[in-house]
Amino acid sequence: MRKRYDQIRSEVNLDQLIDLVRGKLLELPDPRSRSVDYTFHDLVMSAFAVYHFKYPSLNRLEEQTTAERENLHQLFKIGKLCSDAHLRSCVDQVDPSDLRELYPSCFQLLKRSGVLREYALADKQLICSVDGVEHFSSQKVHCPHCQERHHRNGQITYSHSMLCAALVHPDQREVFIMGSEPIKKQDGSQKNDCERNAAHRLLDWMSDHYKDYNLLFVEDALYANGPHLRRIRELNWNFIVNIKPGSHELLFKLFDTRKAQGSVRFCQWMDKQGTTHRFWYDNDLPLNEACADVRVNVLMYEEELKNGSIQRFSWATSIPLSRRNVEQIMRQGRSRWKIENETFNTLKNQGYNFEHNFGHGSNHLATFMAYMMLLAFLVDQIFQRCNQLFNRIWKAAKTKVKMWEITRSLFMVRVVYSFKEFYIILAQQFSVQLE
Ligand SMILES: [Zn+2]
Repeated sequence: MRKRYDQIRSEVNLDQLIDLVRGKLLELPDPRSRSVDYTFHDLVMSAFAVYHFKYPSLNRLEEQTTAERENLHQLFKIGKLCSDAHLRSCVDQVDPSDLRELYPSCFQLLKRSGVLREYALADKQLICSVDGVEHFSSQKVHCPHCQERHHRNGQITYSHSMLCAALVHPDQREVFIMGSEPIKKQDGSQKNDCERNAAHRLLDWMSDHYKDYNLLFVEDALYANGPHLRRIRELNWNFIVNIKPGSHELLFKLFDTRKAQGSVRFCQWMDKQGTTHRFWYDNDLPLNEACADVRVNVLMYEEELKNGSIQRFSWATSIPLSRRNVEQIMRQGRSRWKIENETFNTLKNQGYNFEHNFGHGSNHLATFMAYMMLLAFLVDQIFQRCNQLFNRIWKAAKTKVKMWEITRSLFMVRVVYSFKEFYIILAQQFSVQLE
């Protein structure tokens, strides 16, 4: 008999998730040619453990208590811990691209446990929010892959950024990383061009891994360009992208002309909170002069709160607009912020030490560590979505930062043989009843 979704979900545990990560990490090629004291497995799992426990630095690996060493052995199967310098120099040589295979594996798990059903819109579409984020910046340390910003005073800022794609839903709390693509320095290109090129590579990768899913891309105005939107449509996916008067002049002009001619449709209503929602929409407009073949449907939206304050948004979408769906499209378009608020801000403010420099290296280190952080975040989000006990402990702890703090303290002094056991002990610390 097939297992029920809730049964599969209740069985999702950290031990299983970390096994999944370990399986993929072990498939990465060991870049070292000579025999060494540390296994490749121990090196890469140590890097993952640093992010899982949200350690503030890699040095923490060298300052382990006896209990921590035993726990790392029991829970992560790490045999021997190396110095942070050795760890950095080794993973600097490892191309982390293959780590991305873990995102679709986790997506499968979300599907099996029924989470995807809860994220699917009425028409079965899944919202994928894409945005870029800078994860390394320095005026001294740099490598050949760094992006460069030349300042007027002659100084140069070196940085690494990446694009992230995440499954989001307007009414759901968790976000799940689906893809990532480093933004690589390309000579003579503007930053925007780099992000656009990275977006192209990301879409190619996603088409290889998610072609059977009905995706709806929500993105900011930077991605509202012809080649990108055309590619999304070629892949049979949909989009809702922000548009701006400055970068989409023709589209706004055309919309205004049609509005003056009376062909733009309008509707408005007030909700229970006294907020007025106003929608102006029209279908089948050319995106711009250069890409007139890319036809979009345009939604202009105004939200007026009870106190009179007004916010305005505008989107272009591949979904034909009607009175029936403009509110949904507005809510889906606004769910783009989830990647900023729930992903990047969580990584920055909730213990993941996003802006802390774990090392830069001269080849892959910066990207490798950023991917490790995304994987640790993805594992946490899946566990949070599926595990009731985690949620009860979180509620008792009030903040995640507090929860991670107690987790680390407990890990330092108490030997456990599984994460399942670990969370039972953690629950006792917060007087959370086990069911
Ligand atoms: Zn660099």
